[in-house]
Amino acid sequence: MDPLKDHTIQFSGLKDGAHEFQFELGDDFFAAAGEEEFEGGRVNVLVNLHKSATMLVTNIHVEGPVSVRCDHCNAPMDLVVKGDQRQIFQLHGDPSEDDDELVTLEPAAHSINLTHYIYECLRLSLPARKVHPAGQCDPEVEKALGDLAVEHEPVPDPRWDALKQLKTKRP
Ligand SMILES: [Zn+2]
Repeated sequence: MDPLKDHTIQFSGLKDGAHEFQFELGDDFFAAAGEEEFEGGRVNVLVNLHKSATMLVTNIHVEGPVSVRCDHCNAPMDLVVKGDQRQIFQLHGDPSEDDDELVTLEPAAHSINLTHYIYECLRLSLPARKVHPAGQCDPEVEKALGDLAVEHEPVPDPRWDALKQLKTKRP
């Protein structure tokens, strides 16, 4: 997705050592993402950045409820996601050594934008299969499928309790 300016960190003015940044992903982020995977959400992002003379090591942590489509009935459902991802930005390196985790910055760069990495972290924190708890799928679809032996999570997911608590707190 396109970079959002809120997620730009001017590292040139930072001292060597540890720094912490916090962001909240809300409607702006999910609208800008324009991807099918998320309909919305309210996710807290915590970035720990360690700066040294040669690199910036960032640890991105995402946590919060997101709205997605159920893989079974395609109706909206809420999920609480939680995930971590490390990303390293090399200041004076060889771009040919870059991989998923390591990115070499332009020699003249003095800022990094984390929107893409935050989005990836969020995407990777989704479960492989997203399905409503048993009995909560869209009844119209259930009927149309005419399949009583549908696959559901066999045990209640503890994250649903956490989500219910979050929901009652929301205005
Ligand atoms: Zn469903």
